[in-house]
Amino acid sequence: MAEIFSLTLDTPAYKGGVTINTGLFINGKWVKPVDEQKIEVVNPTTGKIITAIQGGSSKDVDLAVNAAEEAYKTLWGLKVPGSIRGQMLLNLANLIEQNAEEFAALEALNCGKPFASAQREVAVGCVQELKYYAGWADKVHGKTIETTENKMAYTRREPYGVVAAIIPWNAPLSMLAWKVGPALATGNTIVVKPSELTPLTALKFASLVNEAGFPPGVVNIVNGYGNIVGNAMAYHPRIRRIAFTGSTLTGRKIQEASAKSNLKVVTLELGGKSPNIIFDDADLEQAIKWASTGIFANMGQLCCAGSRIFVQEGIYDAFMKGFSAAAQHLQQNAGDPFSGNALHGPQVSSTQFNRIMGYINSGKADGAQVYTGGKRHGNEGYFIQPTIFTEVKPTMKIAREEVFGPVGVVMKFKTEEEVIEIANDISYGLACGIFTENVSRAIRVAQALEAGTAWVNTYNTIEISVPFGGYKQSGIGREQGECVLEHYTQVKAVHINISLKL
Ligand code: NAD
Repeated sequence: MAEIFSLTLDTPAYKGGVTINTGLFINGKWVKPVDEQKIEVVNPTTGKIITAIQGGSSKDVDLAVNAAEEAYKTLWGLKVPGSIRGQMLLNLANLIEQNAEEFAALEALNCGKPFASAQREVAVGCVQELKYYAGWADKVHGKTIETTENKMAYTRREPYGVVAAIIPWNAPLSMLAWKVGPALATGNTIVVKPSELTPLTALKFASLVNEAGFPPGVVNIVNGYGNIVGNAMAYHPRIRRIAFTGSTLTGRKIQEASAKSNLKVVTLELGGKSPNIIFDDADLEQAIKWASTGIFANMGQLCCAGSRIFVQEGIYDAFMKGFSAAAQHLQQNAGDPFSGNALHGPQVSSTQFNRIMGYINSGKADGAQVYTGGKRHGNEGYFIQPTIFTEVKPTMKIAREEVFGPVGVVMKFKTEEEVIEIANDISYGLACGIFTENVSRAIRVAQALEAGTAWVNTYNTIEISVPFGGYKQSGIGREQGECVLEHYTQVKAVHINISLKL
């Protein structure tokens, strides 16, 4: 038996103890890794250790894949009708909903997210997500295709078998649900590796899998470090497909591992440096509100963060006044995620804190001006002030590389053509924002920008039913919506001779 970790929670709707198993969840059971290794989990608000979990190795990945393969062949896959798989996903969503406060508290504790935003992530990013894919489970099917009078052909959408998911730390529970939901709805079994920094909600999630009715081996969770467990998954010869969310650097390694092992199908949700463009005719109040949400939500730790803010010269002064006031308002409400009015929490880890401060220093050294923020907040934990840079040149490091923190760079522009060219001159292409009251311009610019998502007069408003993913080096494939179901199934074409003599 692996160890149990208990802590006392105090949230608006829940006061009491929560227990979490800190082991690996393989074949429906909690187990210790073959070679025991402890990974300390830190509270970013204080910098203190919350608990230690067990971290696995390639041996545990093997055991998890064996369990997932056996389950796929005997208990799952094509043996279970979609309606039953959907019912199990629905059961799981309902169980998570019943424990929503505990999930939100664990996420706030482990990631430093303000509690209210952790609650939204549990409700929308996880519960609604699983319900949405529960609904799809019996609606995935092929086509019949006309060929000749002597033949009929049809296609089937079949699961891959054992698939894997590697999860980042910025939205641990929703990124888990984004992958587990469609994988199970389409009849695959799954091996998941949570981020070693933020494993707590994945462990709580695992504790509900049996109760939801999933047969053993359908869902397996192997904690561990990326270069050990993640690497073993990427190279594993019997994992047929892998879904990854994280940095472009790691995504590259996963694709390389796939090429060198079994050519497993790889989908990647990677980084970004997304442009958010404010035209002179924008609704000023809306542009300020969404630009602030665009870069500062989740302390800037969002892959789609609108981190390059382009402002047309006529609206520049008014926009900057409101935008900096919005950043300062967040700064005044920075604090413990559990304090009722906290709007801005810490960065997830000391590594991320140092990385972001390094970018702030590089911006200053390159001659950009700190318009507001730019410093550590408080003495405890990993807080950074919401920061805005001006006098930024598109060639500066701070304008080209993903900071993944609360740091926006503002650049003034004159014409539509000019801003499109600069906005597209980057290796990323995840998202973009366009603020204008001119509908023709909105559509024209949305078409011209190289990005998987274009938001017009809104930002960061991801929808479950709408595909999400990147152009260029921001990713391969899509998550969310109907679109992702294609990534979790492969097409089989069946040709039947119906002639008498052919
Ligand atoms: P990361 O790439 O370091 O880690 C992500 C996951 O990959 C973790 O579980 C980690 O353990 C694992 N990993 C690390 N090295 C590995 C290896 N060699 N082989 C296999 N797995 C490995 O990224 P991070 O620091 O956790 O997350 C931040 C990055 O993720 C940012 O760049 C951000 O833009 C990106 N991100 C993208 C999206 C998206 O949807 N496009 C969403 C969230 C985060």
